[in-house]
Amino acid sequence: MKMETDDLRLLKGVGPSVETKLNNLDIYKQTDLLFHLPSRYEDRTVINRIGALESDKEAQVEGEILLSSMVFRGRRMLMVQISDGTGIMTLRFFTFNKYQKDALKKGLTIRCFGKTRKASAGIEMIHPSYEILDSNKENNLPKTLTPVYPTTQGLSQGKFRLLISQALENKLESLEDLLPSKIASELGLGSLKDAIKNTHGPKKDELDINKLSPAKKRLVTEELIANQIGMRQIKRASKKQSSVPLRQTNLKDRLISGLPFELTGSQKKVEEQISADLALDQPMMRLLQGDVGSGKTVVAGMAMSIAIDSGFQSALMAPTELLAEQHKQSLDQWFKPLGIKTALLKSKIKASKKRLLKEGIANGDCQIIIGTHALFQESIEYNNLALVVVDEQHRFGVEQRFSLIKKAKRDGIVPHQLIMTATPIPRTLAMTAYGDLDNSIIAELPSGRGEITTLCLSEDKRSEVIKKALREIKKGRQVYWVCPLIEESEEQNRESAEATFKKLSKDLSSHRVGLVHGKLSVDKKNKAMSDFKKNKLDLLVATTVIEVGVDVPNASMMVIENTERLGLSQLHQLRGRIGRGEHESFCLMLYKNPLGETAKQRLEVIRSSRDGFYISEKDLELRGPGEILGVRQKGVVGLKIADISRDAYLIPKINKVCDQFENDFPRESEKLVRRWIGKQINYRNV
Ligand code: ADP
Ligand code: MG
Repeated sequence: MKMETDDLRLLKGVGPSVETKLNNLDIYKQTDLLFHLPSRYEDRTVINRIGALESDKEAQVEGEILLSSMVFRGRRMLMVQISDGTGIMTLRFFTFNKYQKDALKKGLTIRCFGKTRKASAGIEMIHPSYEILDSNKENNLPKTLTPVYPTTQGLSQGKFRLLISQALENKLESLEDLLPSKIASELGLGSLKDAIKNTHGPKKDELDINKLSPAKKRLVTEELIANQIGMRQIKRASKKQSSVPLRQTNLKDRLISGLPFELTGSQKKVEEQISADLALDQPMMRLLQGDVGSGKTVVAGMAMSIAIDSGFQSALMAPTELLAEQHKQSLDQWFKPLGIKTALLKSKIKASKKRLLKEGIANGDCQIIIGTHALFQESIEYNNLALVVVDEQHRFGVEQRFSLIKKAKRDGIVPHQLIMTATPIPRTLAMTAYGDLDNSIIAELPSGRGEITTLCLSEDKRSEVIKKALREIKKGRQVYWVCPLIEESEEQNRESAEATFKKLSKDLSSHRVGLVHGKLSVDKKNKAMSDFKKNKLDLLVATTVIEVGVDVPNASMMVIENTERLGLSQLHQLRGRIGRGEHESFCLMLYKNPLGETAKQRLEVIRSSRDGFYISEKDLELRGPGEILGVRQKGVVGLKIADISRDAYLIPKINKVCDQFENDFPRESEKLVRRWIGKQINYRNV
């Protein structure tokens, strides 16, 4: 095989095994290495004095080895003491080979870099990186910061640095600058080459992580442009698919007139947007945002009624079985009187019953099918699915949307999709994470909802909190007591919820206390939840499994423990479980003292506001988007270096140039998307 000059194998140190590892990081060519950007830097440009070291800081020191010996402290370790005349420091190694051990000889000079830590015997470093200095050489310090790369097992930082410096040597000069100079200057950007070179080794004074250096701005802008254009491409690709136009006759009106409430103006407005989409012969791809309790389910119900009117089936996908069940109840309430059949696909149903259900789905007898992911995983044959509603999934990223299309597509027909989220997303974030979707917002809550009073209390006020709970219970109301997931292990979480359950059962011994957490069997979980819904329990101790969707209008109080550990959006979601009826409600947020400054600010935001959009904007500001989307932001949004909370201000400007870029420079814009998004979004492959 002939090698391209961009081939990885041409680099020193790359054999088949290293190449495979690089491929796993989405690196296939030398040029890709240039875009493998450091996640942070180490400052090795200076030597710190041992006497002046603080603990818990990265530092570089140089000193003479005073002592090197093996010791046993429960386990074998190599302990090395060094001195630079200002103090003595200990280095500890738990893994080492004979060669390393022998090389660390008394009297030699060592330079090491690592994180300091205070131990009883003084300052030390565990497993620093080091080199023995050759006294015959100059041993210069680097002039630039040392990059630390995202890597994978078996590819050391040292190796990465060597590979990238070779790639820079070989490929930087010929690197194609894809942004037209007109656009670059409009956005105030410098050259790509400088930006790449600088990012792999910036000077110390050029770096401030909170600010965008010119180099970083250039790269972040490129990435955000690629993201925007990628999203537009996805949107166009999905619009090119065909789907069945759904037209209504009168089922929707009959549904509406049977409702026990008036629709809000917002509900009517988004419903109009949805029915307009459904009437087209290309699939709807719409995001429906609406705060907790704003009444999204009935909007989904109206969309389904349109599909049914046209003779087609709808599926509703919920994140948990619990919510699927709740949806089944609501939908039955609305649709049963109209003679419409629903089916709930649960994991645990008798084989005979499941067969019947599947038959009903396959022959079109059931018009609405409700379930979890299983809706598209199992061997479910739909008769004629035309609408898929995805509920409460803030983790429903681009890839999932595509896999859904793939699975639900039949005979070239793609179902319409409505994705509902109770997490209001700041506009900039929505454009980045969901830029391929049209956007509808339910901007108001139904009227007649009781007020929620939110109080933030230190956890030593617990007995007063219990008294308050008793008062609510005596009034006939119900109480949630939330022990959020805070431990690393699911087992510990369960223990903490169980301990709270035991204590509260004692404190409220004449009342009915229940428990629900993620480790319970599905049956037990459902039983506890449905008991609470039916008012067979006064107080429910729960982990955050009750976070999304659960609807119990009689619950008027919620206690949340460890509030300081939760994100604002999550707290807002939790609180949305109460205040759903006409009763005045209380949310008591308990925190552990002492609170840091940011924690205080965050609690103040949640205490003073019930506006999900405001809260999510603040959340983004105070903590970053990972929180809002529920997982690490980069994974969801697929960004390598742009940080939406820091760089959001660039997006409106970027959007303006995207049109021009795509239209006038189709080849370049296509390449830019490939360069930054690569294989992540395989939009052609739908
Ligand atoms: P969410 O948007 O959080 O999913 P739901 O769809 O669960 O909200 O609705 C919350 C509650 O409000 C439900 O009991 C629902 O029947 C009720 N509801 C929905 N729309 C209205 C309305 N316009 N007026 C009064 N209650 C409504
Ligand atoms: Mg809901």
